[in-house]
Amino acid sequence: MNYSNQKPQKPCLICGQTDWEFLYPAKDYLHDLEGDFSLWECDECGFVHTMPQLVGEDIEVYYPEDYVAYSEDVSQEEKAVAKWDRERGVARRCNFAIKSTGKSTGKVLDVGCASGNFLKGMQDRGWDAFGVEPSAYASKYANEVLGLDVKHGYLVDGLFEDDFFDLVMLWDVFEHLEDPETSLEVMRKIIKPGGTLLLSLPNSKSWDRHYFKEAWCGWDVPRHYYAYNPELLQRLVERHGFKKKLLKSFTGRHGSAALSFDYRHKIMGKSQAQRERFQNFFNSYFFRLLSYPFYFLSDRLNRSANMTMVFTKDEA
Ligand SMILES: [Zn+2]
Repeated sequence: MNYSNQKPQKPCLICGQTDWEFLYPAKDYLHDLEGDFSLWECDECGFVHTMPQLVGEDIEVYYPEDYVAYSEDVSQEEKAVAKWDRERGVARRCNFAIKSTGKSTGKVLDVGCASGNFLKGMQDRGWDAFGVEPSAYASKYANEVLGLDVKHGYLVDGLFEDDFFDLVMLWDVFEHLEDPETSLEVMRKIIKPGGTLLLSLPNSKSWDRHYFKEAWCGWDVPRHYYAYNPELLQRLVERHGFKKKLLKSFTGRHGSAALSFDYRHKIMGKSQAQRERFQNFFNSYFFRLLSYPFYFLSDRLNRSANMTMVFTKDEA
């Protein structure tokens, strides 16, 4: 089926305009699953909308069990370098999240916690940890293997008490929400006054987005319904009783660029062997070292492939 001529029928979630401009054709380059998609940009504010937005069983097909977020416990990682890399990733995220709250402990909810690696990191650091995860496979892993308190399903009204959490965090999840406004309302209810909401997601104002164009891994259709940038995200979230506290870029560096290069090579029709050769070179220590100043600068200027934004819920 060819979807590429289907314009979004909804007005822009951010500014309410209905003038959508065709941006790129799109495919699931992550798993190479069937389906033609398209990306549309709001003429007024630059917000990007995936078409069509699949829901229910139609979208579940695009979250197979080998989906990367459902990876196993970090301690089970066999390769030493990969283990170190992942442990460091968990530690950086957890330490950042804790620091952003200004508290040393409290109650944390990880929405879309996948197999629970970050949530486990928070629990290990003394936090009272809760999770919600729509994947039966990943939530079972988090409960049974990691011993975490993870509910299987979506974050809906009434799942938790009002004013319960000191911190609600969504790592690479907010862009997967089909109805972010309703989700923000639920999150506003369950966060304590003065509590923290942390959102980490692709930045459509990143250098990667402009360089890779349709091959940018941040589009990730059809799993990502929308693409945000710092200003658009702030406008949306602040409409729901939050105030922006800080914006920081520290994820979405080499791994994201490697993925985008691979998507570009898929689009160009390069062979598996050619793509592997490039990836081996790109992921070598030599090249990582060489590219370090680029990531350093893109982080500083908030032009990295990913952004992390912290908001505080208004007091009373
Ligand atoms: Zn708009």
